[in-house]
Amino acid sequence: MIKANDSNRKSWISVPKNSDFPIQNIPFGVFKKANKEICLGTRIGDTAIDLSQLNRLNYFKGIPLKKDVFEKDNLNEFLKQTKTVWRLVRDRIAEIFDIENQMDALHQKQALHPINTTQMMMPVKVGDYTDFYSSKQHAHNVGCMFRDPKKALLPNWLHMPVAYHGRASSIIPSGTNIHRPAGQQLLEAYNQPVFGPTKLLDFELEMAFITGQGKPLGEHISTSEAENYIFGMCIFNDWSARDLQKWEYVPLGPFLGKNFASSISPWIVTLDALEPFRIAGEVQKPDTLPYLKFRGRKNLDIHLEVKISSEAFKPTLVSRTNSKHLYWNIFQQLTHHSINGCNINAGDIMASGTISGEKPNSYGSLLELTWNGTKPITMPDGTKRKFLNDYDTVHMTACAKAKKYQIGFGEVKTKILPAKKTSFPLNY
Ligand code: MN
Repeated sequence: MIKANDSNRKSWISVPKNSDFPIQNIPFGVFKKANKEICLGTRIGDTAIDLSQLNRLNYFKGIPLKKDVFEKDNLNEFLKQTKTVWRLVRDRIAEIFDIENQMDALHQKQALHPINTTQMMMPVKVGDYTDFYSSKQHAHNVGCMFRDPKKALLPNWLHMPVAYHGRASSIIPSGTNIHRPAGQQLLEAYNQPVFGPTKLLDFELEMAFITGQGKPLGEHISTSEAENYIFGMCIFNDWSARDLQKWEYVPLGPFLGKNFASSISPWIVTLDALEPFRIAGEVQKPDTLPYLKFRGRKNLDIHLEVKISSEAFKPTLVSRTNSKHLYWNIFQQLTHHSINGCNINAGDIMASGTISGEKPNSYGSLLELTWNGTKPITMPDGTKRKFLNDYDTVHMTACAKAKKYQIGFGEVKTKILPAKKTSFPLNY
């Protein structure tokens, strides 16, 4: 039993009803305080907690932490510590803020900040980013749309968690707006490429995990060891320009249709906090190769939602699904990633791929929800969406629900701004 997961525990910090951040959560992130100082932190209810300050005040006494591990502007040094240390720190935070304990008023003033006085930053410096393709329904839908529905899954799909390497440096935190990207698209009527802003801008609803320090180059991580190398998870919106993607991806895969931005939710919810929400995934048939076999419950029951808002309407639900629908679990993903000896570093991000459920209203992208634009969605102001418009905002939330509390991820929220002016002619 992980101490911090005690479902009966209450905090002396007030926690609003149905908060994503009860004392059982204790996520990790990075925030900017009102005085512009950046610090590593956690959150209980609507209070952000400065971990470097707690450390300076000696609250982590007895835990084998590197002295300056919290004196940083990202979590990477903390991620280099072992799972045992991550767990000791989270358990200690639960203890410090347990209702049975008290904190000096001066210490409170030094370490606690109302969340609305802070700004969330990137939690990690992402070294490498990989995007998997692990939802069978999503792979099936895409196969049906662009290939033969009878052979929707490609021959390798049921044998390995398919993935590509993405761009780490364009991963941005929730609240950072993006401009509609421009690029080459095929004008099908003339069979000619043109250059201009994407007409088919889409979101992809994904979950991602963040790694601790893996093994050196040449070694691999088994599915049972993978537990020790995954720190936590966040929501991941893998922005996609479908027209750019369609024209460029042959034969090497995603490039400019993807790398202009990916957005993440800023609080990393630990794998430990998600422990009570482990469930069994779909039985994998055909049988996997031995290196991908695993024991125990490896999928996660996390409710996911996507909403769209604009200047004319409030956030409106367009998809509701669950991360349990992933066919390949995160432990298999990490094992597959390292099975050739590829090294894994603290602060790598690995995203699941679009998560789609079986029902058409549980698909994780507009590509699927509107079936490549053939079934537009009507918004509350009467306008239709095949893909995203300028000034649309996409909101994604994720939440695991227990009887007495919920472990939420907050949200990842991003507004689309018009394409930037370019000096190149738009033959569009
Ligand atoms: Mn993706």
